Amino acid sequence: MRILLVLVALAGAAGAQRQFQGDQVLRIMARDEEQAALLKMLEEQEELQVDFWRHPFGPGHPADLRVPFPSLGAVKGFLESHSFPYTVMIEDVQELLDEEKEAMARSRRVKRSSRAFDFGSYHTLDEIYSWMDTLVEDHPGLVSKIQIGQSYEGRDLLVLKFSTGGSARPAIWVDTGIHSREWISQATGVWTANKIAEEYGRDPSVTALLDNMDVFLEIIANPDGFVFTHSSDRLWRKTRSPNTGSHCLGVDPNRNWDAGFGGAGSSGDPCSDIYHGPFPHSEREVKAIVDFIRGHGNVKSVISIHSYSQMLLFPYGYTSVPSPDYQEMNELAKKAVSDLAAVYGTKYTFGSIADTIYTAAGTTVDWAYDQGVKYSFTLELRDTGRHGFLLPSSQILPTATETWPALLDIMVHVLEHPY
Ligand SMILES: [Zn+2]
Repeated sequence: MRILLVLVALAGAAGAQRQFQGDQVLRIMARDEEQAALLKMLEEQEELQVDFWRHPFGPGHPADLRVPFPSLGAVKGFLESHSFPYTVMIEDVQELLDEEKEAMARSRRVKRSSRAFDFGSYHTLDEIYSWMDTLVEDHPGLVSKIQIGQSYEGRDLLVLKFSTGGSARPAIWVDTGIHSREWISQATGVWTANKIAEEYGRDPSVTALLDNMDVFLEIIANPDGFVFTHSSDRLWRKTRSPNTGSHCLGVDPNRNWDAGFGGAGSSGDPCSDIYHGPFPHSEREVKAIVDFIRGHGNVKSVISIHSYSQMLLFPYGYTSVPSPDYQEMNELAKKAVSDLAAVYGTKYTFGSIADTIYTAAGTTVDWAYDQGVKYSFTLELRDTGRHGFLLPSSQILPTATETWPALLDIMVHVLEHPY
């Protein structure tokens, strides 16, 4: 009887969270358009359940595919029959997930004996939201918390405001975690919020910045998705809103913006991970940012932080036509990635979204740019695919630390180039 109860308990625990035993992540380099089209065919075969971690929208760019264990034979067979070389980036996805979970548990055990927040660990939404309150308490004249809306499931969309006063000062918007499975993004958001608060009055650049401008930082831009990555499916990317006429949930909140909406690099299929949604700004999480930026009226820069690939990108994504500010953005990006690399040698590529990765319609930074927010950037943080979305927590502090000078380069440039 006791054994049976234990078994039931184990089954219950295992059933609560999606398992990825034996799933592999394969890297494939399409040599030409024909091979790129073959990869698209794989994506469209829904029964294979292939999850594209990096999309293959053109030759010369690697595509990373998580292939569920039951589909491995079919997918590898398909690739071999088309003499498509591939490498195995991750042998067993579940192994990385187990290590991640163990690291979080370890951090919690240490936490019990200390009041300090562990910036080198991944955290839940509740932990991050409660830490945000602490940050506000610790920096009353500088940091406040505002609510810009609610998520589909009714969670508060919370933004940290860093301000030394004034009214509607020019502002910089930063969001992390709009794709929920990119955990290094939210973790970098937490570290960065703390850094901004601590460096005011110490670092002359941060001090000058906040004496003249406000910074708004939304750490968990997709709270429903984020909670779901902790409770049920670590690899969930989208929002959690239902789709009419489909059993699949969620919209890609980085394809949902009114900028080339519905174009290349997005999908009309609600089951796709890059589903653009029924109409622009259909997602409350997106609409809240749209309303905030429009309502504010003086946002000069939007920085949207994702992972992975190690890239610093700027508009446009929906067209390969260079933006009018291409030259200036390119110079700034070049300086930022060089200062990032100076910390630990981590190499980033940079350029317009369309040139650097692929055409992607409906993205945050294209929308912001077309709204007149000139300095709109997307960061794709570590790594380049060794761990992909499952970056070990031991890399949180190095990632956030090296990203900081790049962020500061952009912010200082915005301060020094008023428009
Ligand atoms: Zn992303």
